[in-house]
Amino acid sequence: MRRKLVAGNWKMNGTNADLKEIEALGIAWAAPRVDIVVCPPATLVSRMAFALGGQRSRVGGQDCHAEASGAHTGDISAEMLKESGARYVILGHSERRADHHETDEMVRAKTEMAHKTGLTAIVCLGETDAQREAGETLDIVAAQLAGSLPDGATGANTVVAYEPIWAIGTGKVPSLEQIGEVHEALRTKLRERFGDEADAIRLLYGGSVKPDNAAEIFGGADVDGALVGGASLKSTDFSPIISALE
Ligand code: PGA
Repeated sequence: MRRKLVAGNWKMNGTNADLKEIEALGIAWAAPRVDIVVCPPATLVSRMAFALGGQRSRVGGQDCHAEASGAHTGDISAEMLKESGARYVILGHSERRADHHETDEMVRAKTEMAHKTGLTAIVCLGETDAQREAGETLDIVAAQLAGSLPDGATGANTVVAYEPIWAIGTGKVPSLEQIGEVHEALRTKLRERFGDEADAIRLLYGGSVKPDNAAEIFGGADVDGALVGGASLKSTDFSPIISALE
């Protein structure tokens, strides 16, 4: 019932020349059974949308401001992303929470703006290594979920990505049991708050998803797809990950 989704997060990587990776996705890119989204740096959003023949559903931003416009040097608005051809926006990624001191409240305000603008927010959350060691994982992710999602989240406007910080870019991946435990807890919290609509909200796993572990991860309970960082940069890595989900 929930359509599977693979989202690529290029982070601060990619110039014009890298758009060839998008073209090279070829057959996999035309996958009819899964949603595929690539979130390049803001400079490439419109060019990527253009390269895809205007298929907006395939492009996303990596952040947006909570306000519609104004004196915010260096920031980008949800409307700007939308006008550039994006349909999605990643919000609250742990790198933004760390580098730009983004709090749950800020992520929630940005998510509200994304919703208002008609973008689907991919809201990220996840525990640190120390929090997992201390047995705090489920409390941490529940608090992040409650704080980061605004009222009115639906399956159409919101995707939640569970990304344990210790798994991002490290090659370390939680066990299927660990992912399943967190996703189950998130689903329960979503149901408590959003009722039946909760079952339409996709839960992605993110953190060191690679061609050789994707199939196993996608086999986990309540895993609706993945948010992929490093392995989304090359079509030869991203393509088999997409295929593993089909
Ligand atoms: P990674 O990044 O796949 O390179 O671990 C995932 C992410 O940060 O979204």
